[in-house]
This record gives sequence, structure tokens and C-alpha cells, in this order.
Amino acid sequence: MKHCSIHGCPGEYFKQVINHLVTMSGKPVIIENVPAEVCQVCGDTLLDIETAEAIEGLLANPGQPVHTVPAYAMPEKAMAA
Ligand SMILES: [Zn+2]
Repeated sequence: MKHCSIHGCPGEYFKQVINHLVTMSGKPVIIENVPAEVCQVCGDTLLDIETAEAIEGLLANPGQPVHTVPAYAMPEKAMAA
């Protein structure tokens, strides 16, 4: 098991399938079913090179999304705190 790369974090990475959030043309886009290693303490995420390349390829030629999801903004009150 790989130790977390975030300084001071005691966590370790575990293999997980995640929804990976990226920005495409300034807008957030989710890529589902991405294999990743995720720190169970701080949530830091690692992608292997093949996965990162596959995502780059997908973003270069994305085609139609499989579906769309709702997006919400943080309420301003909570932002000010
Ligand atoms: Zn961590």
C-alpha cells in the first residue's frame, strides 16, 4: 500500500472507482468509472499514466455525454464563513 503523498497525512491509497471531475472549456465535467487510488484520510487521488492518457483522449474527442448531472453552487452565506 502506498503512503499518502500529502505532507503530514497519515493515510494510505486504496484502489477505488471514482467520478473524476475535470474542467473542459471552463466548465466542470465528470468522467464516471475512473479507476484511481484514493487516500482514505485526506481524499487525495492518484491516477495511473494509462488512465490519465485515456482521459486526455476522451477530452480531446468527447462526443456525446452518457448523461448530464445537476450542478449546485455553495450558498453565499456558507462561503462567507
Ligand atoms: Zn492523505
